[in-house]
Amino acid sequence: MIRQKIVAGNWKMNGSEASISDLVSGLLEISESSAEVVVTPPFPYLSQVAELIAPRNELVLAAQNLSQYEKGAYTGEVSAAMLTDFKVTYVLIGHSERRSLYGETDEVVAEKVKVALSAGLKPILCIGETLEEREAEQTLLVCERQVAAVIDAVGIQAFENIVIAYEPVWAIGTGLSASAQQAQDVHQAIRANLASLSTPVSEKVQILYGGSVKASTSAELFTMPDVDGALVGGASLDAKEFLDIVKAAG
Ligand code: PGA
Repeated sequence: MIRQKIVAGNWKMNGSEASISDLVSGLLEISESSAEVVVTPPFPYLSQVAELIAPRNELVLAAQNLSQYEKGAYTGEVSAAMLTDFKVTYVLIGHSERRSLYGETDEVVAEKVKVALSAGLKPILCIGETLEEREAEQTLLVCERQVAAVIDAVGIQAFENIVIAYEPVWAIGTGLSASAQQAQDVHQAIRANLASLSTPVSEKVQILYGGSVKASTSAELFTMPDVDGALVGGASLDAKEFLDIVKAAG
């Protein structure tokens, strides 16, 4: 099955009104691509970026997080419905920084996926093992557990509208990317795991790799049959580097 590639830039807590305006102008130099290209600014800049990208329709907007609650007394939180006001299409859920720094459990992540789906947002569900877990040969176990919590909450069929991002924690922001083959092995296992519940869903779901992706490594990464794109952190803050990754996706 041919799955469209997605190249998503996760800007994390970086940028200012001025620098984001520059970054988006650089990104609008994009030449035609078969991949879907996604940008994920911090919340305060969603509206600015939505406006800047609207005329060209080549970049798709994502948010970095959302609340698991619908509305009410949750100071500092942003709801799914609020994101839809800014033409947000995707939302990152369960990024390892959210899990490790903000205590998001598998259950909270699953709730967030549920809320996002009901609002019509597409979750990019981030999963992945720590170095300790990899060394203990628990990579697949951890990924399966993280996906299973979401299946329990929303069912396998919902994965038709969920993108998975496999991001080994030891590769995020470290410059230490997984090899293309290491990524492929895990992606294949994740897909096989989904196939045990639904083959059509497993064939459809896009699985992105994230963790120190750079232009120089992306070409090989994208030749892997189960790698359907990339979630890019650091390298997405440089328009030229990010567009080179997009180019590698074809
Ligand atoms: P990185 O981040 O590309 O800087 O490693 C990836 C991510 O956290 O999504």
